[in-house]
Amino acid sequence: MAIQHDMFEQFKNKALLRKAHNYAEDYLNKALARNVFPTKEAIANLAQFDEDLPEQPAAAKDVIKQLHQLGSPATVTQIGGRYFGMVNGGIIPTALAAKFLVDVWDQNTPLYVTSPINAKLESICEKWLIDLLDLPQETVAGFVSGSTMAIVCGLAAGRYRLYERMGWDINKKGLRNAPEIRIIMGEEAHSAVKKAVSLLGLGTDNIEYVPVDNQGRMLADQLPELDDKTLLVLQAGNVSSGAFDPFEEICEKAQAANAWVHIDGAFGLWAAASTTHQHLCKGIGKANSWSVDGHKTLNTPYDSGLVLCNDSEALVMALQATAAYLLYGEHRDGMMFTPEMSKRARAIELWATLKYLGRSGVSDLVKGLCDRALQFKEELEDADFEVMNEVVFNQVIVPFETIEIRDKMVQHLQDSGVCWCGGSTWKGRPVIRISVCSWATTKQDVTVSVEAFMTAREELSP
Ligand SMILES: *Cc1c(COP(=O)(O)O)cnc(C)c1O
Repeated sequence: MAIQHDMFEQFKNKALLRKAHNYAEDYLNKALARNVFPTKEAIANLAQFDEDLPEQPAAAKDVIKQLHQLGSPATVTQIGGRYFGMVNGGIIPTALAAKFLVDVWDQNTPLYVTSPINAKLESICEKWLIDLLDLPQETVAGFVSGSTMAIVCGLAAGRYRLYERMGWDINKKGLRNAPEIRIIMGEEAHSAVKKAVSLLGLGTDNIEYVPVDNQGRMLADQLPELDDKTLLVLQAGNVSSGAFDPFEEICEKAQAANAWVHIDGAFGLWAAASTTHQHLCKGIGKANSWSVDGHKTLNTPYDSGLVLCNDSEALVMALQATAAYLLYGEHRDGMMFTPEMSKRARAIELWATLKYLGRSGVSDLVKGLCDRALQFKEELEDADFEVMNEVVFNQVIVPFETIEIRDKMVQHLQDSGVCWCGGSTWKGRPVIRISVCSWATTKQDVTVSVEAFMTAREELSP
């Protein structure tokens, strides 16, 4: 078979892999200095992908060449220091190098027997994360695609446990005719939490919302009476303001009522690992489950999310349709802790990141993002922009008079190529949201980005 021969050749002489490697180096050499968002020309060139499905195999080197020539310029330079959109993290070079290597291994990781190395490093990461985030010793970790999936897992574990206590086997009987459970969260809960509620069949109409303060923090004294049929979702890091719920006070109430507490800490939970910001996470150890991303604050490669749960049985039972897999062997089978069976070896990059940074490196990384966010606030205010939020973490909110002005500012900033920020709404006002989320952001990056804000305002003023 000609194509099989061709593929063996590609493995054997490695010219193709070397080519891809050279393209990657070329990308790194240019990307950091380039426009953050692709130029109009780069976007227009994507039309060259519009072709019919080829009838015959192509030359491998042409496939990779096309990808580099058309694809690389059409990427968003998220790995650089001036991308402030969403809450998208940069990439730690050691983790990137680990991913290169692991990509060649192409491991599938549901079971110990499909990848002993991944199983080992899942165990190590689990142990290190408990230590780093100061979580209960019995906590287990599931390695999933991101926080959205991790929230689904945490709430599924809670749902399983609440029903199990009522003598209702949710896996077998489902929600049909089931006794009711309650779901409570702050008015500022992330949309991913609501998605999890609907995916789990709990119904978003059934959510009881707790009022929040002007930073989006749940007001502990407004919390309804909790009971042992309650799922309570708290937040470490509001996606707009970066604010943290008062965990200590709320978790104590929840514990006393035997409610299940999940903390959505997609980017904020890493505050617990920093010497300067860990006060924000005080009390998180009293929750039952947590969700956090590697790919945001920690700057691992995409995609990398974690569900952490202090009730191993509830998590495992919630994620397995049958108990047939529940053979606790001496080795770790990662799929016990995730909805997926087949999945990539994402724990390995997480391990490489933690091993490279160490405890002090993670702490410095978090502090660095927060310092740059404070610098943004100060320089923006010096330039007579308003900053709406208390900058307690890495998020900065800049309001504008009208949606039209905000949209023009956003467009101007994005077109400038200097930096990338997105528009949003906060407390009813049109805003630009700045998220400092990459280790690569320097003081200079912040200064030139604030200058881009000033230029935009000047050129847009009548
Ligand atoms: C990003 C984010 C999510 C969703 O996480 P993904 O990794 O994108 O699935 C959930 N909650 C908060 C607070 C977030 O910032």
